[in-house]
Amino acid sequence: MSKVYMENGKLVVPDQVTIPFIEGDGVGAEITPVCQQIVNAAVEAAYHGKRSIEWKEVLAGGKAFQQTGEWLPEATMDAFREYLVGIKGPLTTPVGGGIRSLNVALRQTLDLYVCLRPVRWFKGVVSPLKEPEKVDMHIFRENTEDIYAGIEWEQGTPEAKKFYAFLRDEMGVTKVRFPETSSFGVKPVSKEGTQRLVRSAIEYALIHKLSSVTLVHKGNIMKFTEGGFKRWGYEVAETEFAEQTFTMNQYEQLKKDLGEESAKAELAKAINGGKVIVKDCIADAFLQNTLLIPEEYSVIATLNLNGDYISDQLAAMVGGIGIAPGANINYQTGHAIFEATHGTAPNIAGKNVVNPCSLLLSSVMMLEYLGWKEAASLITNALEEAFSKGQATNDLARFMPNGQALSTTEFGQLIVGLL
Ligand code: NAD
Repeated sequence: MSKVYMENGKLVVPDQVTIPFIEGDGVGAEITPVCQQIVNAAVEAAYHGKRSIEWKEVLAGGKAFQQTGEWLPEATMDAFREYLVGIKGPLTTPVGGGIRSLNVALRQTLDLYVCLRPVRWFKGVVSPLKEPEKVDMHIFRENTEDIYAGIEWEQGTPEAKKFYAFLRDEMGVTKVRFPETSSFGVKPVSKEGTQRLVRSAIEYALIHKLSSVTLVHKGNIMKFTEGGFKRWGYEVAETEFAEQTFTMNQYEQLKKDLGEESAKAELAKAINGGKVIVKDCIADAFLQNTLLIPEEYSVIATLNLNGDYISDQLAAMVGGIGIAPGANINYQTGHAIFEATHGTAPNIAGKNVVNPCSLLLSSVMMLEYLGWKEAASLITNALEEAFSKGQATNDLARFMPNGQALSTTEFGQLIVGLL
């Protein structure tokens, strides 16, 4: 068995690599084997036996609970810690008990601070946009901070009362409209947390030769948290990537100092010189712009809550959750878990109709992360061919003018045949 490891900040991937996987609950049992079959066939077609994946099953969710009495056994965490790169199907969220969400537990334990969601359109897939081919965005959602950190107190509890008393008496806060019936939440946003996220987004843009990184925020209202995100984000670009980026912060400064013409000339020079343009946008305007001028955006760096809304809107623009891939990554340690972004879909589980493409495109992201680009491209090309002919599972095929609905297993066989 061969493990992925980090050496001098770089991922080292053996040719015969072991990948731990969580099958997933509900439709997980249908999509996981289909995806593994396609990935194995693509790796074989690309490298003719020189490279291969050994899949190592680890337990989580309902299957783990049935077999071990635990929702997330320590052995599973150990496997992800040890092998660095893994993949998971959807998991049932336990009702009651100590664990709020298995996904959150995995992210927190491994400090997977980036939630990466690439969003692109496949020809043939029906979209609400007139020109969906213009959509090619890569969302870097901060995964560990913000209002999502789970620091909140329910109205009426002694904790909420104590917290309000602190705000009022120690901090001089007088603005809480209904203090007696308010719940409270805290939104931590740190310089380190912002900078590691934005650093990863800029590095990704450089590696993939993408034209811009947009910092999306609500800094006009939340000046220190969301506004801090914008300031610290620009700071990373200007101090750590001075040669490779040009920021709109610098543009504004030039405009003030030397006039608009000089600023424009510098921007044009930066674009022509292949620099990554780092800009920012207020979140509400951004959501509008993604529908009106999607071609203006490439890599998006944003905080946790904004990232949640943005991910779902962008996924809906190119075919919905059945086809949206994702990964949770710590670029410093190399730990990465690729995942289906949808849930366990209990209403269609066991019917052989589920779309395996969310997990499949996450597998493609995983192959790219491992540096196995040839195998990744084979799968993407096969999907392009199938969709352009209207061949897809029912969730997509029913909207295609030439749609032919295939079962999950038929679709899997089709893709293997097209590799
Ligand atoms: P869901 O994503 O499972 O389903 C929402 C709707 O989308 C359903 O109609 C479903 O049939 C459809 N759908 C989802 N994936 C599809 C696919 N690949 N192909 C075709 N149709 C698809 O969301 P839910 O019903 O709200 O949640 C069900 C369970 O999943 C809950 O226990 C929830 O906590 C859990 N969940 C897990 C994750 C995760 O593990 N990442 C994410 C969301 C929800």
